[in-house]
Amino acid sequence: MSYKTQKGTVYLIGAGPGDIKLFTLKAKEILEQADVIIYDNLVNADSLNWCKKTAKKIFVGKSSGQHSIPQSEINSLLVEESNSEVSIVRLKGGDPLIFGRVTEEIQALEAANIPYEIVPGITAAIACAAYAGIPISERDTSSSIIFLTGHENPEKNTLNLDFKNYAKTNSTLCIYMGIGQMKRIIDELTEGGLNPNTPVAIVENGTHPSQRSCYGTLSTIVEVSTEQSIKAPSIIFVGSVIALKGKSDWFESRPLFGKKIVVPRSRQQAGELTHLLEHYGAEVMEIPFINIVPKYEKTTIADVFAEIASYEWIIFTSANGVRYFFELFFKAFEDLRSIGLCRIAAVGNATAKDIKAHNLKVDLIPDSANSQALCDALLENESLDNTKILLVTGDKNSDSLYQRLEKEGRAIVDRLPLYENTKPNLETSKAFQKFKEMGADAVLFTSSSTVKHYAEAVKTLDLSGHKNPLFGSIGVRTTETLKDYAMPVAFESPKANLEHFVVETISHFKK
Ligand code: SAH
Repeated sequence: MSYKTQKGTVYLIGAGPGDIKLFTLKAKEILEQADVIIYDNLVNADSLNWCKKTAKKIFVGKSSGQHSIPQSEINSLLVEESNSEVSIVRLKGGDPLIFGRVTEEIQALEAANIPYEIVPGITAAIACAAYAGIPISERDTSSSIIFLTGHENPEKNTLNLDFKNYAKTNSTLCIYMGIGQMKRIIDELTEGGLNPNTPVAIVENGTHPSQRSCYGTLSTIVEVSTEQSIKAPSIIFVGSVIALKGKSDWFESRPLFGKKIVVPRSRQQAGELTHLLEHYGAEVMEIPFINIVPKYEKTTIADVFAEIASYEWIIFTSANGVRYFFELFFKAFEDLRSIGLCRIAAVGNATAKDIKAHNLKVDLIPDSANSQALCDALLENESLDNTKILLVTGDKNSDSLYQRLEKEGRAIVDRLPLYENTKPNLETSKAFQKFKEMGADAVLFTSSSTVKHYAEAVKTLDLSGHKNPLFGSIGVRTTETLKDYAMPVAFESPKANLEHFVVETISHFKK
């Protein structure tokens, strides 16, 4: 059972430090139901994809070059947006009660008699420590932890705390918003009597793929962090526990950490490749160079379904075909057995996996994932003379397969095109904008059509001065297409599946 939100209530929610997986289940469930979301800039904006399409999203953070909205305006906005018809989420980075100015918002809500609930989140200090492997408490050396802020008032940029008072606490100090005032903070700690050799760590952009950490002592950290141009948002840790940090940097030493990789596919398909790459630490930019939309003739569907049980083979040339086929199939039939006693062929493992998800066995998968190899495998397998075959495809990728099966195999083939590739509007893709600005380390191509669409889209782009990506290919056919477009292939997966492709990407970057 998911959490049930109340209309008219404001949910003050902590979004965690950045890694979207560090959201709480409760926060996610409330976000999924919310009608209005008022969010800050430290919130991972991908979480807004969980919201209803109709939800109103209001950004109140500071965007580059602009001043943030004054707190008083945010308080009024919260009250204005509240009414008995909607549920409102006020989404803040980390934990809402830690340096989040939530007290002022609560006061405004209470003054207006608006009910509210608070959902805690993982605060930056706790997350940064974990992702840098720093044990912030330790039985013998540090039995207290203090959260401090470098800006007492972020709007005034002033520092009211006297850090001298924290020099002799023997605690681990976790300093938020301290980068701008770092020299003064460190000087005060030193003046207060803290040993200049006390270890200091700074974790920038903690839990993000762009996380950086920097280490020094009280006497060196200002210089070291300036050299590395460490910026906000960062947490500064001060205390002997930093010396107890584990040797393995579990987060920053993952094999693709720091690499920006473009996955040129549409959202639904990209999922698994993105998931694997992120697991190994890459920052993935999913760019929908191809837009896949359903397209079919209703009469063709009716004709095919009328005789569905008479096919001896059903061939799927893509995972999209599988998806659209079964969506339509289960609208027409209640029972999987209506599919008959056919055998099933899939172009590759990814397609086969989606078929197996319907509890159907896949009888034939060619060694390389392309339609020529699929055709070869079918022809070699047995005589197809007069065999009735259903070929489930998109609108573009089946001509030669169809012709070979009919001519060489003398089979009776019905084609069932279910979708088409259209040109997406890339200007609306945030990942594409980022790619245009910063470039990438690699683009991973998983099919010839992704190569074509990529080449088409970047033709007019000026990527000079940015990081020029190298090109990885999932297999022979994709490599051929890359060569046709004069795009140099940096590496090719030894087997045409996502797992091998990712392993090859890792070994390429290791060299
Ligand atoms: N409520 C938030 C803190 C807001 S104050 C929380 O509980 O985490 C903003 C400060 O938090 C930043 O200036 C920085 O010091 C810290 N911070 C937030 N996210 C961070 C991140 N991903 N990595 C490092 N520091 C972060």
